[in-house]
Amino acid sequence: MSLPEFKLLRPRTVAEAIELLTKHAPDVQVIAGGTDLIPSLRQKLFAPRYVLDLRGLRELRGIRPQAGNGAEIGALTTLTEIERSDFLRQHYPVLAEAAATVASPILRNMGTLGGNICLDTRCLWYNQSLTWRKGCGFCIKKDGNICHVAPGGDTCWAVFSGDTPPALLCLEAEIEIAGAAGTRRLPLRDFYTGVGDNYRKLEKNELVTRILLPQSSADWRGAYRKLRIRGSIDYPLAGVAVVLRRSNGHVEDARIALTAVNAAPVLVKGIREVFSGQALDETVAEKAAELAARTAKPLTTSALTPEYRREMIRVFTRRALMQAFNP
Ligand SMILES: Cc1cc2nc3c(=O)[nH]c(=O)nc-3n(C[C@H](O)[C@H](O)[C@H](O)COP(=O)(O)OP(=O)(O)OC[C@H]3O[C@@H](n4cnc5c(N)ncnc54)[C@H](O)[C@@H]3O)c2cc1C
Ligand code: SF4
Repeated sequence: MSLPEFKLLRPRTVAEAIELLTKHAPDVQVIAGGTDLIPSLRQKLFAPRYVLDLRGLRELRGIRPQAGNGAEIGALTTLTEIERSDFLRQHYPVLAEAAATVASPILRNMGTLGGNICLDTRCLWYNQSLTWRKGCGFCIKKDGNICHVAPGGDTCWAVFSGDTPPALLCLEAEIEIAGAAGTRRLPLRDFYTGVGDNYRKLEKNELVTRILLPQSSADWRGAYRKLRIRGSIDYPLAGVAVVLRRSNGHVEDARIALTAVNAAPVLVKGIREVFSGQALDETVAEKAAELAARTAKPLTTSALTPEYRREMIRVFTRRALMQAFNP
């Protein structure tokens, strides 16, 4: 499958990038590592006149601990850098663990944290060639007006399948967004819409520039579990991130977030109340796992049955909790 023709724009600063995006919006697409965008361009899911390459923006690379005030990660930092960072492994282990499960080592060398956060939602009826999609009469997310997953409705349920966002949600991360009016900060939990064909709150002339990890989430224990068909490379079909703070053999606080089972990565509500200072045993873990399974709304957007994927959310939640509590 060939790439569509486009003109490549290569800014050197964020200001220049925003200027170019503003000038060429809406006919422009941003590329970071390109590990998701390039296959999508080949499948003709996008045919922009301009592609804006972020890789010249050196200011958006790197992990910077902020002396007693958390850490700042540039959006262009690769997943390999996240996975191998001694600082993140020590203080924000759930993020390093989730990054290490993305795709394969080669894709992690190219793929960026910003690209993982901004990842397009996926569906068996969408991530296909133009010929394949045409044969099925297209769908709401691209070129059509029906949904093959939920026929009769007018909503797209394509699933968010990034591995690091659930870890970042557990860490209460914020993102910095740069646009024509300057920069703004947004809790990551407010970035996603939960709608498959319009999944993030980002204007065409805006960029995610930094990810901010708060000090209050440093040193929580964590674990990430994901279901996939090929353990060496695949997107998650269900994913669970868990963080908890342990004190005197009890869980002081805990957070759980899911991916690949909803149109957005989601935090599971009511987890703090489940623990409320108790020691973690199988019964308490099962209560939390039940809440997680009820939060998951898997549909036939992905391989494996929705029932199995929901059940694996329950199993992974229990296992991730036990691992984080007794590493
Ligand atoms: C075979 C295969 C397996 C994969 N498996 C996984 C997996 O297991 N888990 C997983 O999470 N991902 C997986 N991926 C997807 C991808 O490799 C990762 O999600 C990666 O982190 C994407 O980052 P990137 O820099 O390559 O993004 P790109 O492909 O460059 O961009 C992805 C999207 O984000 C937008 N974007 C990128 N950076 C920014 C920014 N700073 N501001 C605004 N918009 C931006 C782009 O416009 C595009 O819409 C897989 C891909 C392939 C090809
Ligand atoms: S959920 Fe429906 S509309 Fe969305 S990509 Fe899949 S088939 Fe298309």
